[in-house]
Amino acid sequence: MVNDECLLCRVSDADAFFNRRRVWQNEYWRLSVVLHGAVVGLAHLEPHRHIPFITDLDGPEAATLGTVLPRVTAAMRRATAADKIYVYVFGDRVPHLHFNLAPHRPGDALVGGPGLVRPDAVEAEARAHETAAAAIQHALAVPSVN
Ligand SMILES: [Zn+2]
Repeated sequence: MVNDECLLCRVSDADAFFNRRRVWQNEYWRLSVVLHGAVVGLAHLEPHRHIPFITDLDGPEAATLGTVLPRVTAAMRRATAADKIYVYVFGDRVPHLHFNLAPHRPGDALVGGPGLVRPDAVEAEARAHETAAAAIQHALAVPSVN
């Protein structure tokens, strides 16, 4: 299922827009390496099918993610001599699920987890953390459709 309004569903347009090259695909997933920017080897792993957000992931893409993600990240790590591969999923700009896979080496352009929070961010109240943890625990205790 392809959504004509979605850039990532129009994969040739997406490759041109992001200046990226498709380097691997299987029946459900494709991996494209971005050919510019500060991070060498940065890649997008995305399903062929239009799945808007990680919370929508289902079907064979959900069943195969557990083998695809370690396969492509291990290959990227070896090929780029990276210490590790950072995995980012945001969904703020392109509503077609994609994993931003970033090879990381000490001293490179990536700041990792701490860089995801504004430097001036205020610590949330302990009660808010406890409430969120309890709500998530409760949500997972109830059988879901996914
Ligand atoms: Zn799409």
